[in-house]
Amino acid sequence: MRIEHYFTVITLSLFSIVCAACEKADLVLHNTTIYTANDAQWTAEAMASLDGKIVFVGANEAAKKYMCGKANIIDMAGNTVFAGFTDGHQHLEGVGKRTKTLSLFGLPTLKQTVQEIENWASSIPENNWVLGRGWIEREWTDEQRFLTKHDVDAFTKNKPLFMPRADGVSALVNSKALQLAGVNRNTPDPEGGKFERDATGELTGYVLANAMNVFRNIIPQETDEYLKDNLLKGMQVNVSMGWTQTHDAGMSYRLVDLMQQLHEEGEMLHRIYAAIPVQEAQQRFKRGREKTNDDMLDVRGIKVFIDGTLGSRGAALIENYSDAAHNGFMNRITQQALVPILEEALKAGVQIQTHVIGDRAVRSLLNWYENAYTAVPKSQWENQDLRWRMEHAQVITPDDQQRFVELNVLPSMQPSHGIGDLNFARERLGDERLAYAYPWKSLVDKGLKIIAGSDAPVEVGDPRIEFYAAVARKRLDGTLGEGWHPELAVSRETALKMLTIWPAYGAFQEHLRGSVEVGKYADFTVFNRDIMTVDEADILSADVVMTIVNGQVVYTREGK
Ligand SMILES: [Zn+2]
Repeated sequence: MRIEHYFTVITLSLFSIVCAACEKADLVLHNTTIYTANDAQWTAEAMASLDGKIVFVGANEAAKKYMCGKANIIDMAGNTVFAGFTDGHQHLEGVGKRTKTLSLFGLPTLKQTVQEIENWASSIPENNWVLGRGWIEREWTDEQRFLTKHDVDAFTKNKPLFMPRADGVSALVNSKALQLAGVNRNTPDPEGGKFERDATGELTGYVLANAMNVFRNIIPQETDEYLKDNLLKGMQVNVSMGWTQTHDAGMSYRLVDLMQQLHEEGEMLHRIYAAIPVQEAQQRFKRGREKTNDDMLDVRGIKVFIDGTLGSRGAALIENYSDAAHNGFMNRITQQALVPILEEALKAGVQIQTHVIGDRAVRSLLNWYENAYTAVPKSQWENQDLRWRMEHAQVITPDDQQRFVELNVLPSMQPSHGIGDLNFARERLGDERLAYAYPWKSLVDKGLKIIAGSDAPVEVGDPRIEFYAAVARKRLDGTLGEGWHPELAVSRETALKMLTIWPAYGAFQEHLRGSVEVGKYADFTVFNRDIMTVDEADILSADVVMTIVNGQVVYTREGK
């Protein structure tokens, strides 16, 4: 008996030594600091994953048992690993398309603008359209005149060109575009538009208002191939920025179907959580929620535009603008049209995401949400845990901030909008309202989970900028504007949650991802600097070293 027992002990010990020698993993990151976004274990030195899921988080020493077999072992010395960053609000197709058209915003001279157009045109194949936008002559320091076909014809002989000015209501076209459109000196101006002509009656290539449609109509329609390529390019841009997931704020079913194709073809680079535009709400109710088994694509919500933007004075305010005799507009959908959709959404378990910027739009939607909650008995709700969202939510009165808590509504905000808009928000809102504009810290202090995002391609779509804006609340050059309320900035720990675990919560995925915990998906963003500890200004110069989704390395910085 005794010997037998002794023997058993030895066998067991040997068995555990063998086991300890090699635990199965296919990816190990070690020798680093991992910021997990998990309060219970905020940092770790190493992690191991298998088949896309995390199997170990802890110390280097303990990770050794996974550093064997077929595991891809990556020494992260000098780099810092973060729970995978999520862009909580963006438009993927637009992010991809942006890579295919030229932006001329912010160029200081006419000469440089023309040079940029020439460089761009040289990259476009013969007979294809040279597209761009955003030139604005009054900001040029050399010459302040409209561009004409004479500026660009020499290098675009066989390439039609169409480039709207920054205001979007006039454009530059070249001789090739005029020829393709059949417009010549004898063509009359269209109703509500104008082909500009010189003193001799010759067309200059500067066209205004409805005259732009003549060209828009002959630019090839966006084919499925074109859109699919935009989606793919958008994902390439996103993973190079370090995003492991994006929340798409309005992905049409045409795009969703293309995304499904990309998923089947194994071309998805990061996860996508998508909301359908309200125009396709009925289709959403019919098709139901669509989710791939690997959680790469999850189509769940409905996105609704309510008001405009603060910059254009289109955001709906309770009181008048401080610099205009009106209080903005809520004219993008009527209450009458939206209420039945809200009620149907409750019954179907659809998450609602409304674009609301001004305090009147926010308040109105809190009311509409609440009315819908009352109108539909809870027993008829598909999901009691609604997590309906408000996108942007830039101006929220203190009373209404508390209602977010009571109604379980999630604010989805863009820190970069804050630091951009604060340059003119004081003129629009006045000092009193500025105290509750972009009120990140106030909301967090109330216990709300803010979903942070970039709204790319409106903003760059760069997690460093969003993180910096949230914690610094300063311009990118480090300066602070008057009345910017630096006390509304958040801590780095909070900013990290705003870009990781809280967007996961906003997508009902906090049990799957958003933090580095055993059992969750192995999604990581790796920077060459520790943005939790470096000087504030240095956050912006951290580089993305690697992006990992589902345990797969989907991006590495060239040469590293
Ligand atoms: Zn948006």
